[in-house]
Amino acid sequence: MHKLPNIPALVEGILEGDRARLARGITLVESRAVKHRPLARELMQAILPHSGGAIRVGLTGTPGAGKSTFIEALGLYLCGLGKKVAVLAVDPSSSVTGGSILGDKTRMEELCREPNAFIRPSPSGRSLGGVAARTREALLLCEAAGYDVILVETVGVGQSETAVRTMTDFFLLLQIAGGGDELQGIKKGVIELADAIVVNKADGDNKVRANQARVEFARIMQVLHPFTPGWKPQALACSALEKQGMEAIWEMILRFSEELKESGVFEQRRREQNIDWFRSLLQQSVFERFADEHKERISSIESAVAQGELPVSNALDQLLNEA
Ligand code: GDP
Repeated sequence: MHKLPNIPALVEGILEGDRARLARGITLVESRAVKHRPLARELMQAILPHSGGAIRVGLTGTPGAGKSTFIEALGLYLCGLGKKVAVLAVDPSSSVTGGSILGDKTRMEELCREPNAFIRPSPSGRSLGGVAARTREALLLCEAAGYDVILVETVGVGQSETAVRTMTDFFLLLQIAGGGDELQGIKKGVIELADAIVVNKADGDNKVRANQARVEFARIMQVLHPFTPGWKPQALACSALEKQGMEAIWEMILRFSEELKESGVFEQRRREQNIDWFRSLLQQSVFERFADEHKERISSIESAVAQGELPVSNALDQLLNEA
């Protein structure tokens, strides 16, 4: 982005649903250049009243579970219903590996060609916090551009599932039949975040096993504390490859949205998510500012701690008292 963007024109284009302007807006909020920051703030302020209208669906699953095939199948199904679908990703590892989970152009080829679909790879960044913050802003921009469903994909690295859970309404865990030991390979705790588990690859010889796995997951989820108050987590099966099972999945998400809007949980959670987002940004920026302002003192205290000359908690007290 060499030329500074004209924000009113950018806002107008985004509100009209122009994908090129939307992409440009996202690039602006992802930018770390100091000169872009006030423009990004201006953009976010202008689009905020137009955001909030989509259903936000988080999706995770181990590599190979079929996430991109699934997103393509669900995305195409939704486009067929006349919906506008945006696909975002949170992959903090992408900056390390150089690629990203949505960066591979061969993924979701069919969905890429849909005029009502918008696909954006994960922003790069060193910290999950930074990557997640930029994806949240991208999500709001997509809503302002009129997208009805936002799918946010993540791979199971670090705490990325938790980050995606905190920016979405519905959280879906994609699984495959695991030969009886259904909990194998699932990171501890991730299953507890899910509003639904979908067992993928329920096709051909694998159909029976996939359905057995679905029953097993349903049993496991019954005894877990539901993450979303008032919603009983569901277990379904599908074949993303054969594009089977999408209707039932979408109906479940719609039912979730209707029931939770009625009970007030939907809006309440979005409010809480905003507060949590603000607090995590606050924490991060207060820390960064403090660390910057007290760089030398911190470094001398750190070496005293490293040498074993000063207990860690005493070091903290000393630093805060001096500051
Ligand atoms: P990701 O790593 O989770 O994004 O998984 P991919 O979508 O790349 O899929 C991994 C592999 O599983 C690919 O070879 C897909 O063709 C295959 N696959 C995905 N969904 C299905 C399905 O529903 N049935 C079958 N049989 N294969 C599938």
